[in-house]
Amino acid sequence: MTVAFLSLADQVRELRPQLDEAMRRVLDSGWFLLGKELEAFEGEFATYVQAKHCAGVANGLDALHLALKACGIGPGDEVIVPSNTYIATWLAVSQVGAVPVPVEPVPGTCNLDAARIAAAITPRTRAVMPVHLYGQPCDLDAILAVTRPRGLRVIEDAAQCHGARWRGKRIGAHGDAVAWSFYPTKNLGALADGGAVTTDDAQLAERIRVLRNYGQRERYVCEVQGLNSRLEELQAAVLRVKLVRLDEWNARRTRLAARYLAELAGLPGLVLPTVAAGAEPVWHLFTVRHARRDALKAALLAAGVQTIVHYPIPPHRQQAYAGLGLVAGSLPVAEALHRDILSLPIGPHLADADAGLVIAAVREACNALAV
Ligand SMILES: *Cc1c(COP(=O)(O)O)cnc(C)c1O
Repeated sequence: MTVAFLSLADQVRELRPQLDEAMRRVLDSGWFLLGKELEAFEGEFATYVQAKHCAGVANGLDALHLALKACGIGPGDEVIVPSNTYIATWLAVSQVGAVPVPVEPVPGTCNLDAARIAAAITPRTRAVMPVHLYGQPCDLDAILAVTRPRGLRVIEDAAQCHGARWRGKRIGAHGDAVAWSFYPTKNLGALADGGAVTTDDAQLAERIRVLRNYGQRERYVCEVQGLNSRLEELQAAVLRVKLVRLDEWNARRTRLAARYLAELAGLPGLVLPTVAAGAEPVWHLFTVRHARRDALKAALLAAGVQTIVHYPIPPHRQQAYAGLGLVAGSLPVAEALHRDILSLPIGPHLADADAGLVIAAVREACNALAV
């Protein structure tokens, strides 16, 4: 492969001395769960995302699950989710016993179309879960304008948007709770699984802290039926190192995205991502659209450029959700996106020369596919 989709080894190499020091500190402490590193990371991350509270958990799926559970959402409830998202958003709703109700996206940003939410609300609706997909913030003003008057909770899936801003304020506490993943490939990634929930609601944060530790506030005293979902000290220490570098790494992604947007403009058949007014994205992914997506992917692969489809099958067409009875054609916007989308290499360590190779390969492929 000439240009890999993303290099995690380069990320580790850039921060190796600081990571070594952080990991040594944890090993020497002899304390591996629910300790000083987690507490410090929670404070630092809350400050960074402009939220009052942060609770570290084991992964992004658990962050979503625990946020829903802490909001009291469960069996008999409906939760509005985007029709195009990573499957984890839907799985979290199902895990608490509620039903995911899909709403279609705006094709330009691929994010939840706020104008379609009202029509999906029923007497059972308890919450809306916007997903800031590909690092692009959703239109939170429009979403909150629908949910606030109706008393619906807003639980944001922020697994792809560490550092992004909506109307100048970081994603982190616009809604009731914001769920984060620190899976290694995310903009802020650990060296294993990790996650967190941020919120301005002190009670909600406290409920999540209890729920993540078996439902115990005091050791061996179980108040509620919780989970075992803790962010390890080692990962918290790693994340503290990487958080310091996040803005710089996001800036590198933004420069690459600006270059792609400028140098790939106007190619036949190629649709570039758009940025909504008020949104400052962090380009977790740079996802283009092309009617002959598979041919484009193959041409790029032949030119040595690795691409990924995020995602090939929409949640409602997964076997796991066959029970909802959402047949092919029932969510046409999401289905069209899943046929057309392709993510180009982007990341803090993609060299300018490699971005140039990607641009040249996309140009050649689009021109060849047009004839
Ligand atoms: C990665 C991701 C998740 C799940 O995070 P994990 O830490 O892998 O459990 C959830 N939602 C979205 C949109 C994601 O990209």
